[in-house]
Amino acid sequence: MAEIGQNRTTNGINYTLFYKKVRNLNLRVHRDGTVALSVPRRCPVREADAFVASKAAWIARAQARMAAAETQDIVVNTIDRDDAAALFEEVVRRFYPYFSHRVSRVPDLLVRDMTSRWGVCHPTKQRITLNLKLAAYPPEALEYVVVHEYAHFAVAGHGPDFRAEVARVLPDWKARRALLRRR
Ligand SMILES: [Zn+2]
Repeated sequence: MAEIGQNRTTNGINYTLFYKKVRNLNLRVHRDGTVALSVPRRCPVREADAFVASKAAWIARAQARMAAAETQDIVVNTIDRDDAAALFEEVVRRFYPYFSHRVSRVPDLLVRDMTSRWGVCHPTKQRITLNLKLAAYPPEALEYVVVHEYAHFAVAGHGPDFRAEVARVLPDWKARRALLRRR
């Protein structure tokens, strides 16, 4: 059975006081930054308040660490997307020479988390959009999608001319495409 604590404030610090069968005062800062103090049954409330107040600096440091940990998660996600963009950019640049007669400059790259497409080619905007999820696939599969989108600068649709354009650069394109279907 969960014990019901008593919400208190001392010296500007909000905390929850629990009376327990413990011998010492146990102070805890939770992941969400809330503060809890467990004290022995006979401990006077003013003593609990005084103890928490005396630990103000320690509590503030612990709360800052918790807040920083949350920020770190967000940063990690951002880096993942940036890493993917850098990886994709390298492949788009590397294959540009095969298509420099089809498109006048290295296309702009857009990275999006898409659900139904690996890539999108916008010939008029000279832009290729790649699915963020490709970062989790083998480089051979990523290269296939990049070449596939490049080929759309030459041919719309997926007919024989299109397949010939892809095969010109990647003769093993079928094996590469198969890697995308295996997950
Ligand atoms: Zn296509």
